[in-house]
Amino acid sequence: MARRKLVAGNWKMNGSRAALAELDAIAAAAKSAKGVDVAMAVPFTLIAPAAERVPGLAIGAEDVHDRDSGAHTGCVSAGMVKEAGASFTIVGHSERRADQGETSQDAWAKAAAAHRSGLHVILCCGETEAERNAGRAERVVQAQIEKSVPDNADGSWFTLAYEPRWAIGTGRTPTVEDIASIHAIARAKLRMLIGDAADEVRILYGGSVTGENAATLLAVENVDGALVGGASLTAEKFVPIIEAAARL
Ligand code: PEP
Repeated sequence: MARRKLVAGNWKMNGSRAALAELDAIAAAAKSAKGVDVAMAVPFTLIAPAAERVPGLAIGAEDVHDRDSGAHTGCVSAGMVKEAGASFTIVGHSERRADQGETSQDAWAKAAAAHRSGLHVILCCGETEAERNAGRAERVVQAQIEKSVPDNADGSWFTLAYEPRWAIGTGRTPTVEDIASIHAIARAKLRMLIGDAADEVRILYGGSVTGENAATLLAVENVDGALVGGASLTAEKFVPIIEAAARL
């Protein structure tokens, strides 16, 4: 099954209105890369100006609350980010799991809320270094998928991202064999949960993807794109990843 590649960026708690100028060249590269989807998740405050500046580029949120509205001071709902111009959101990122104590059940509820509001979802999973060293990477990822993927997930609105926590922002990546193995396991788990719809769900790899390693990582079987943190902050670093995806 041929799935369009998706290259998604995640600015995390970085960026400013001035930094939005980086999106001009990223949007231009996205337009030229005909066979590739490109998306950028930015801090809540930058969603509206980013969406206005580059209407052709999919702009998203990095998180949403699991409720549609209510007494949740400081939180932002999926409907709110949609209204601001977001077309997707990341949920279950490992930094939220580590910093805010979010669980796979939280990611499930956030994915469901985002879908209710008409957002595409990129749901993250991935093991810690200790879990990998203990030989538990596969079981951890399978359990995360089982607890966080909504029953009605399909490729029209749902994308999974495998991001080993120890590879995020470290410059280290798993071997291509290890990536292929986890992505195959993830696909099989999705098939158990959602049947044939699993074949259309994109599974991204995330963790220290750069312009230098993108061609290798994106060519791995069942790797349908990349979720990119640090290298998404500038066009200079992000555009080569889009171009690598377009060449495959
Ligand atoms: C991420 O935070 O999702 C990520 C993959 O970060 P980096 O590319 O910087 O490793």
